[in-house]
Amino acid sequence: MILVVPSRSRSRLPLLLVLLLLFAVVGGVSFLGWRQSVAAPTVTLSRPGALGAKSTLPVVVEAVRGGLTRVEVRLVQGERVVALVKQEGALGPRVQLPVTLEGAAREIKEGAATLEVWARDDFWRPLRPSDRALVAAPITVDLTPPRVEILAATRYVSPGGVTLVAFRAPDAARVEVTVGPRAFPSFAWGPPERQARVALVGLPHDLVPGTPLAVTATDEAGNTATRGVPAELKPRPFPRDTITVSETLLQTKVPELLPQRPADQPLIEGFLVINRDQRRQAEEEKRRIGGQTGDAPLWQGAFVQPRNTKVFSNFAEARTYVYQGKTVDTQLHLGFDLASTRQSPVPAANTGKVVFAGPLTIYGNTVVVDHGLGLQTLYAHLSTLDVKVGDSVEKGQPLGRTGTTGLAIGDHLHFEVLVSGVSVTPLEWWDAKWIRDRIARPLQDAGLPAMGGVAAAPAPAADDTPARPARRRAR
Ligand SMILES: [Zn+2]
Repeated sequence: MILVVPSRSRSRLPLLLVLLLLFAVVGGVSFLGWRQSVAAPTVTLSRPGALGAKSTLPVVVEAVRGGLTRVEVRLVQGERVVALVKQEGALGPRVQLPVTLEGAAREIKEGAATLEVWARDDFWRPLRPSDRALVAAPITVDLTPPRVEILAATRYVSPGGVTLVAFRAPDAARVEVTVGPRAFPSFAWGPPERQARVALVGLPHDLVPGTPLAVTATDEAGNTATRGVPAELKPRPFPRDTITVSETLLQTKVPELLPQRPADQPLIEGFLVINRDQRRQAEEEKRRIGGQTGDAPLWQGAFVQPRNTKVFSNFAEARTYVYQGKTVDTQLHLGFDLASTRQSPVPAANTGKVVFAGPLTIYGNTVVVDHGLGLQTLYAHLSTLDVKVGDSVEKGQPLGRTGTTGLAIGDHLHFEVLVSGVSVTPLEWWDAKWIRDRIARPLQDAGLPAMGGVAAAPAPAADDTPARPARRRAR
C-alpha cells in the first residue's frame, strides 16, 4: 500500500523547521541580549559634602536583577586608595552600608577626596561587565573638630533662673547650648566679624548641682566639640502649698474644662484628668510656642509687674491637692499668681510680639508675648483678650483683662516668664539690678553690645545672692 502524502504538507515540514530554528536563534539572541542589557547594581548615596572622623554616610546598593555578591566603598586621594567598607558573599538584593572613616582615619589626610562605590551581582550575562566604580562622588575629608570658645556667661545661677552664655563657634554648622538633656537655641549677636552667639538658658527649678551646662558645636562633616560653661549654682528655696479641692471648685470647673466626660464619672476623677493631662498638654504647647521666637531681643529694660497686685502664689510652688481629707494629686505651679480687683487690665511686661492668644487648657484664655531669643511672657485666666497673634505690643500695653477662665478659683492673673518654653522665675526679669549683673555684665565681659538698653554697672557686682521669692502677702 502506498501512502500518499499531500504535496503541500511535504513542502511545509522543512519550512516549519527553518522557522522554528529561526525563532530559537532570534529568541536565544534576544534572551542573551536582554541578559547582557540588565543594568549593573544601582547606588544611592546621600551626598555628604564633607565626611568627618565620626560621621556616617549611608550608602545603599541595590541589584537590578539577582543578588549582590560584592560591595565595596573606597576613598581615593591621589595615588592612595583606602577601602572603607567591603562585603562579599550572598548579600541579597539590597545592601545598606553605614560608611565611616573610623578605623581608616590614620591612613587618610584632610582635604579633597573621591568616594567610590563598587558592586557586583550574581546575575548571569554572556559577557561579564568590566569592574568599575558605579559611583565616584567628590567629598571633603574633615577630621578637625569645630572650635568652641566660651566668651562669658552669667557667673551665679540658681535653679529656676536664667543664664546667658556668650560664645564663638565659627566653623560650626549647628550649635546647641544644653543643660542636662535640654537644649536651647543660640543667636548671632554683635558685629558679624566677631561671629559671636548668645543663648538664654532656662535652668529647671529642680536642677541637680553638677548637671553639666555646655555648648556643643557640630560642623558640616559631623565633627563635634563640647565646652563646659563655668557657673556657680546658688540654691534657691521653693515654697510648698496645700490646695483643698472643694465641691464648688469641682462643680464649676470640671464641666467647663471637661465637657465631654462620661456622665457617670465622679467629678473628682474629671478634676484629676484636668489637673494632670490638660496641665501636661499645656506644657507641651508652651514648648511649641517657645520655638516661635525672634532672633533679636525686643525687650527694653526691666520687665514690669502689674501695679497694685498681690502675689498669692509663687513660682515652682509644690502643690498638694487634698480632697475629702485625702491627698489626691501633687503638681508644680510654674508662675506667679497676681491678684488685684476683678477684671483688671493686664499690661504687657515688656515690648514684644504676640505669638499666642486664645484658650490653652488649664490656663484658660492666654496670651504669650515673645521678647526674642527664646524669652517669652505668659498671661493666663484672662476674661477678655485685646490682642491677636502677630500684634506688636509696647511695655505696659493692655493685653486683656484678668478673669477666672481655665483652672482658676478666683479672679487673678497667672504670670509666667519662659525661656524656650521652660518656665523660670519672673523675679529675675522684674529686677533691673539682676538684668545688669547677670545679663549685661557677661555681655560686657565678652566685649559684646548691651541688650535691651541695659548696660552693666561700672563696678563688678558685689551682691551675688540670687533673687529671692516675693514674700507672700495674702492667700
Ligand atoms: Zn497660677
